[in-house]
Parts: sequence; structure tokens; C-alpha cells
Amino acid sequence: MGLNAAPSANRTHIGFFGKRNAGKSSIVNAVTGQALAVVSEVKGTTTDPVQKAMELLPLGPVVVIDTPGIDDVGALGELRVEKARQALNKTDVAVLVVDGTGCVSDPERELLGLFREKEIPFVIAVNKADLQDAEGKEIFAKGSRWEELTGYGPCISVSAVTGYQIQELKGKIASLAAQGEPARRLVGDLLQPGDFVVLVVPIDKAAPKGRLILPQQQAIRDILESDAISIVVKENELKRTLGQLGKPPAMVITDSQVFAKVNADTPPELPLTSFSILFARQKGDLQGAVQGAAAIGNLQDGDKVLISEGCTHHRQCGDIGSEKLPRWLKEHTQKELGIALTSGTEFPEDLSEYKLVIHCGGCMLNGREMKHRLKCAADQGIPMTNYGIAIAYMKGILERSVGLFPDIVFGKP
Ligand code: SF4
Repeated sequence: MGLNAAPSANRTHIGFFGKRNAGKSSIVNAVTGQALAVVSEVKGTTTDPVQKAMELLPLGPVVVIDTPGIDDVGALGELRVEKARQALNKTDVAVLVVDGTGCVSDPERELLGLFREKEIPFVIAVNKADLQDAEGKEIFAKGSRWEELTGYGPCISVSAVTGYQIQELKGKIASLAAQGEPARRLVGDLLQPGDFVVLVVPIDKAAPKGRLILPQQQAIRDILESDAISIVVKENELKRTLGQLGKPPAMVITDSQVFAKVNADTPPELPLTSFSILFARQKGDLQGAVQGAAAIGNLQDGDKVLISEGCTHHRQCGDIGSEKLPRWLKEHTQKELGIALTSGTEFPEDLSEYKLVIHCGGCMLNGREMKHRLKCAADQGIPMTNYGIAIAYMKGILERSVGLFPDIVFGKP
């Protein structure tokens, strides 16, 4: 993805699913106009779905996910099927590619059930519309067979070979994507044109070289979109900057790592929050995260805490999850805690061994993936909070840091 491209998390994620012989990858290639084939240096060892960010008309910026066959067999095959099912957690629109010359199989029926359960809008692409039998008769689904298929959901007959109705399929995907929830603003909805916003960005040894990280970039972009003014400072410059501004800023947004210093240097009448709290509001559950933070006060010796980050490749938020947060948790609770750290797609489905989950802002995860994680924790009764909220709680400034959101209530988890 180029530097000017939309971040993956803000793109509609289109997942293609199907059996190995349904022609799924050919349909993906026909829809995208690109070869998105599974490539592995060691043949037969690729288990991860192939994912690519691209512009797809008439949709705009999307991420296309080509998943492994859902009827794969053997130990590796089962792993692939599991990965295909996991891809559902971030899929905004699903396309099930079925072979129009065969019957609907159990794995396909199961997948259709999962689309419904997870409320993922979907279309069934009935492939191989071009095929004829040896006598030149069409063997593609028609009549009662077509009725059977349309009984499962909206269908469209297509051919990856001739390109038949591929444009129509793209149009259908676009209309399904348009039905989704509109993206929530990060901060821009809280601002008026001309407002000053001071952003506090520490540049320590753990900060990536030569650039700002994605949560900071996204906040600045959203502030500019509201015709407000971003003033970006390091924590040591905050006090002086606030004194020189001429008018009070609408808010101060800080990196959570320097919450305590920024709290001390920001006059009490100024609203103060953090990047990860804004992300919890945008794509998470801010209320749940505030209540989840109270679980820190109940931690006992031997309890396990899961710290989870959304970065897939290089850790962008520095050593906050791997070093600072574990240290602050132990200092605050004075307990011997077990800390586990996951990143990227590794979020475990079974959270029963944990007493608390602390998640990063998740700026690299799309809204659907973040909701899935929140639901996993909620369904299992495990409190889940967020970096900024956990740190604000431990520093005793939680109420102030969510003061911009008067609907938030405080209470026991
Ligand atoms: S750790 Fe989380 S908040 Fe930080 S850059 Fe990665 S996904 Fe975004």
C-alpha cells in the first residue's frame, strides 16, 4: 500500500469463501483484475488467507481477502479451514463462490449459517455459468436447482472464464457494503472549525524512527477534516505551549504513556483524553472499557492478564504493551501477575484463563474485528479494557480523561 493510501482498517473488507474446486480464486482474480493467487515458498504450507488492499470500482478503497478452501482435509487442511473461518471476523461483505454444476455441500451450508450468525451481508456467486456437457447442453444450475440456491440467499450466476456478470457481482458487493454501519469519527465530531487541539506525542527511544504512528496520523487527519487546528508537541513542551496559545484549546490529546505528566501540566478546566481512549470510542466500547478497568483493582496473585495489540508486522506503539504496561500493573496492584502478550490476528477465542484483557487502540483493526474481540470477552464474562483507560485508571485520572463524554458512568465491572 502506498503512503497516500487509506489505512487498511478504514477499508471495506470483502472476503471470498468457497470449496477448493468452486473456482473461488478465479472469481477473485476476475473481480479484482489482478492475480491474487496463494503464493508460498514451500508448496502446500500456506495457511493464511491472501489479503490485499486495492481500489475497486464502484466501491473505492477495499481489502480483498481470498480464503483457503473450506473443504480442505488433513492436519494442514484443518488449519486452513480454521484460518478461513477466522477471516470471517474481519469480513464486512462475504462472497460465497459455489460451483453451479454441483450441489450445495455441508461446509457451504455451515458457512452460510455463520454469515447469518455474524450478521455479515453476503452474496452467493454461482460460478461456471459457461460450462456445457459433452453434448453441448448447459449443465449450469437452472430451474429447481436455482430455486434451491436462491433459498439460501441472494445469488448471481457468473463465469470466471468468460467474465459473465462479473460487473454485476461487483455492483452487488458495493450495494451490500453500502448497507453497513457508517464509520464513526475519531474526534472531529467533537470540534468546531477554528478550534485548537493540542496533541502530545513523546519521541522516546521506543518511538518509530522518522514518522508518527498511525493513531497520531489518523487523529491529525480527522482534526483537519473538521477545519480545526492541530498543534503537536512533545510532553516537555506542553506547559509552555498552553501558556502561549492565546485561547484555550478545545482539548488536549495525549499518548497514554505520558498521561501522568500531561495531566499535571494541563490546567484542570481543559478537557484531557488520550489517543487510545478516542479509538475505544470510535471502534470499541468506551463504556465497557471504563468498567473493565475497575477489574484491575480486583487482581490477585497468580491472576493472568492478556495484553493484546492489533499491529500485524512491526509493533508501532513501542514498548508500551510489552514493558511499560506490565510494569505499571505490577506496581499498582503489588501482585504477582501472569502477563501474556498477543499481536495482530493472534487474539485467542478462549479467554477463560484470563481475569482481564487490555487491548491497544486497535487502529490497524477494522471495526468488525474489534467488535468480534469485544464480543468474545463479553460472551465469556471477561472484563476488557484499553491501554489508555487502564493507564488513566492506574494514575487516578480516569474520570478526567473521559470527561469529554458525559454519558459514561462509573461502576463495578
Ligand atoms: S499497537 Fe494498536 S493502536 Fe498501536 S499502532 Fe498497533 S494497532 Fe494501532
